[in-house]
Amino acid sequence: MNYRWLLFDLDNTLYDFDAASHFALHQTLEEYGVDPSSGNKEIYYDINHSCWTAFENGAMDFKTLRNKRFELFVNEIGVNADASGMGNRYLKLLSETDFKIEGAMPLLDHLEPNYNLVVVTNGLKEVKRPQLSKPEISKYFKAIIISEEIGIAKPHEGFFDHTFNTIGSPDKSDVIIIGDNLNSDIRGGQDYGIDTCWFNPNQKNNATDVKPTFEIDTLDQLLKIV
Ligand SMILES: [Mg+2]
Repeated sequence: MNYRWLLFDLDNTLYDFDAASHFALHQTLEEYGVDPSSGNKEIYYDINHSCWTAFENGAMDFKTLRNKRFELFVNEIGVNADASGMGNRYLKLLSETDFKIEGAMPLLDHLEPNYNLVVVTNGLKEVKRPQLSKPEISKYFKAIIISEEIGIAKPHEGFFDHTFNTIGSPDKSDVIIIGDNLNSDIRGGQDYGIDTCWFNPNQKNNATDVKPTFEIDTLDQLLKIV
């Protein structure tokens, strides 16, 4: 065994966030009488992306973002719908989703007896807590760190400080982070001085200066590394 602590990103590493958000959006649009066409969804995703960029730059807080994205969306497509209701409904539906990345559950089953597993997510507590509180998921993890709850996100050092304090300050050489995001997961881990494993299922080109310690394109490949 090369590591004792495995820090797992959640969205698009263990959970299929893209499938979940697609499902929750489709359902929300239908319930509010908005055409769930792919064109409309693309418009929403573009607006959502701009809102998250504003959030990351500190120009918008989350309380604003959760409804603003639907407000901008209904204005853009020119329908009269309850944007605030849609914002709430979307997050509720998202929190109830259970789409996993292929191989995630067998991987956790295999690792849990021999390693300390931890969730490190930049997700929202009202989405992540319900998803992770199910006993069939929570049983795997020694700790669950959610950025919104601690007020700082990956890749910032403070997020990792908080994580290390929570898990009893292990030796950094005993810890590896596994995630799909080159900035938040891999740069974050690299800057903190721990090994990193980039989960890159679509074999995207790495055009950044971040150098993951390992790269995998299926989750089962992690077993050979840890
Ligand atoms: Mg992710």
